[in-house]
Amino acid sequence: MDFDETPEEAAFRAQCREFLSAHAERRDPSTRRITMSTMAADEEAHVKACRDWQRTKADAGWAGLTWPVEYGGRGLSGLMQGIFLEEESHYDVPVGMFAQAIGMMGPTVIAHGTDEHKQRFLRPILRGEQVWCQLFSEPNAGSDLASLRTRAERDGDEYVVDGQKVWTSSAHVADWGMLLARTDWDVPKHRGITFFAVDMRTPGIEVRPLRQATGGAEFNEVFLEQVRIPVANVIGPVNGGWGVAMTTLTSERADIGAAHGSGFDGVVDLARRFGVADDPVVRQKLAQLFTSYEISRFTGYRARTAASRGVAPGPEVSVAKIAVSERLARQGDLVEQIMGAAGTLWGDDAPDEGYWQTMVFLGQWMSRIGGGTEDVQRNIVGERVLGLPREPGNDRTTPFRDLPH
Ligand SMILES: Cc1cc2nc3c(=O)[nH]c(=O)nc-3n(C[C@H](O)[C@H](O)[C@H](O)COP(=O)(O)OP(=O)(O)OC[C@H]3O[C@@H](n4cnc5c(N)ncnc54)[C@H](O)[C@@H]3O)c2cc1C
Repeated sequence: MDFDETPEEAAFRAQCREFLSAHAERRDPSTRRITMSTMAADEEAHVKACRDWQRTKADAGWAGLTWPVEYGGRGLSGLMQGIFLEEESHYDVPVGMFAQAIGMMGPTVIAHGTDEHKQRFLRPILRGEQVWCQLFSEPNAGSDLASLRTRAERDGDEYVVDGQKVWTSSAHVADWGMLLARTDWDVPKHRGITFFAVDMRTPGIEVRPLRQATGGAEFNEVFLEQVRIPVANVIGPVNGGWGVAMTTLTSERADIGAAHGSGFDGVVDLARRFGVADDPVVRQKLAQLFTSYEISRFTGYRARTAASRGVAPGPEVSVAKIAVSERLARQGDLVEQIMGAAGTLWGDDAPDEGYWQTMVFLGQWMSRIGGGTEDVQRNIVGERVLGLPREPGNDRTTPFRDLPH
């Protein structure tokens, strides 16, 4: 990979800036924002602002950059998308709410949906008309997602769904959900799962927010009781949902892995303000952090490029996510070290109104756990790259019904 920007990439960066400066104000780099939507003063207004910005981008051809042209995208590489995101992060624009829609459901529908699904979902997703959430994890099915027990039974032209999901980000504001449910209990666990698109306003769905350590409530418990979903909302083959979910998860990991972040300069600034920028230990850690940023940036570009070309789940996605996790851990520890005792303060009493504690120190776990923990990513690298044996077990051959629970 050539790390220098080509003339084509530099021209693209200039176009990004032109679009952004025509539609938004440049952000003052010294201001730090807590971007968790439920910590916004008015969440509803925040969600609306996110929808409006998404529509502005879509109408001007700046949404879904890596999506194929035929589905409203621009067919660009992950590198180009990375350039746009990097530029966008310098502007005061409400981003968020669409990671699941654009980053996960879009690629899933493109890969597995029927023409009707593509018609119903892709354009509205790009224009910010549909907020999506991901109804995958359950109380006893997180890392071992294929152990999920939410059940869907066919009844005429509908499936009837009962079960419970947990950690569902944005479910409380979502229009649609990507739902995994078990449709066959008599086959090994990966082979009896189906992927559904569910309208979150369907009767029988109850969403209960979960309060996090940061004070926000980004994610939820979702209870499903006799929820009726039309057969037409099955994405991919019945009982073939695991393969469909792999597209969703790979896209999610590629997105997290490509998160370049723009926080390094802020950490240097913090060190200067706390008078420790000349401390040799802090300087060494800053150098390590900078290296981590660069590693995760370029590995992320590779992961995103692979995903945008429709390449099957590749270990580079897991490597990229591990790189981001390590960087976030390093950064969380370093900002606390720099702030010293002030790092224990909270809210308005804390430096920069608690930005570092909320977004960097506590916030690190969002990306380190969400989308599959770093331990799980290491297992994937171990098995698929290093060729190490799988964990022993009979769960890939025994009917799900007969496994101990
Ligand atoms: C901010 C955030 C947002 C999220 N949003 C969503 C969402 O929108 N939708 C959704 O469906 N889910 C979501 N999740 C859930 C997330 O996918 C799960 O939390 C994650 O997959 C881990 O599952 P778990 O919490 O059940 O932990 P467990 O699977 O119980 O893991 C507990 C610990 O054991 C380790 N472990 C487990 N299995 C292994 C193994 N085989 N080898 C080595 N170590 C192992 C894990 O690494 C972890 O440290 C979100 C999570 C977070 C933190």
